Amino acid sequence: MPPVTVACHAMATRFEIVLHGDNPIALRAAGEGALAQVEQLEAQLSLFRASSEISHLNARAARGPVRVTPGLFALLLQAQKLCEESGGAFDITVAPLVRCWGFMGGDGRLPPPHEVAEARAKVGMGLVHLNRADFTVRFAREGVMLDLGAIGKGYAVERAAEVLREAGVTSALIHGGTSTVQALGPPPGEASWKIAIETPSTAPAASPTLLATVPLKEEALSVSGVQESSFQEAGRTYGHIIDPRTGEPAIGTVLAAVVLPSATETDALSTALLTVGAAGHDAIAKLRPGMRTLVVSESGGQLQVEAKGIEVRPVG
Ligand code: ADP
Ligand code: MG
Repeated sequence: MPPVTVACHAMATRFEIVLHGDNPIALRAAGEGALAQVEQLEAQLSLFRASSEISHLNARAARGPVRVTPGLFALLLQAQKLCEESGGAFDITVAPLVRCWGFMGGDGRLPPPHEVAEARAKVGMGLVHLNRADFTVRFAREGVMLDLGAIGKGYAVERAAEVLREAGVTSALIHGGTSTVQALGPPPGEASWKIAIETPSTAPAASPTLLATVPLKEEALSVSGVQESSFQEAGRTYGHIIDPRTGEPAIGTVLAAVVLPSATETDALSTALLTVGAAGHDAIAKLRPGMRTLVVSESGGQLQVEAKGIEVRPVG
């Protein structure tokens, strides 16, 4: 039986689901249900929709506590925990720095130092008070802004996978913009899904080569890279992932990948891993038992690959 494929455009990217099973009509219905979940989450979590719950929260929480839905509150608690665990490398309050470096809807620019200092004063989970007693969120000052850009797609993929499971789907692959992929079961007759990771190109027009093939079964993989959005200045590459600890774009690391059961966690932790790079690889990899990771660093045009539990091909 050929697989059923469904797709939609959400969160500024393409979500796609491939489903295996013997009832194509039921598979399609399950797939459409999962995509509806993604669209619903986008309407709730998108920074770029004035009507979203997150926009409502960002506009008001500096003036007083804002009550949010239990689902969003739980996601914010999870993001807070991941921030602590990653030593602040993953931080959903990073938005003022993303904007300052020109990456909010743009390809980046080098800001004057005083603007970086102003933005840094508005960044830090310590400025966000989450009140478990009444599900309210309060910002400590004006200018704080929550951006779920590094966790929202993974969360949407994970929730969509739950919809598939509840519909009885046992073999499927779902991805959001190829940066987060979640597997349900293996494909029929095989041990695992096989996901390719391309070698980040050091030359702009180079044709893609394979870096690794990652086997996935009931697990998620997220890949964060600087290639999607970056600019060059004085021989340095500045990417769209900002190190909240320094206020500057993460340097030296061009790709980071994480495999874990939860797509929410892989999304957040691949961003954290790209931020800390090879120097913080051990600390991130220790956060969860069985975590598989990959870090590609670049220096003087040479790539260096470090992997834990992922087989890589030689590069260079
Ligand atoms: P992608 O969107 O390509 O999957 P990521 O998951 O790594 O990539 O998310 C990158 C986005 O997350 C950025 O565009 C920005 O909005 C936000 N961001 C940048 N740096 C951080 C950080 N250190 N912690 C949390 N979010 C970040
Ligand atoms: Mg991420």
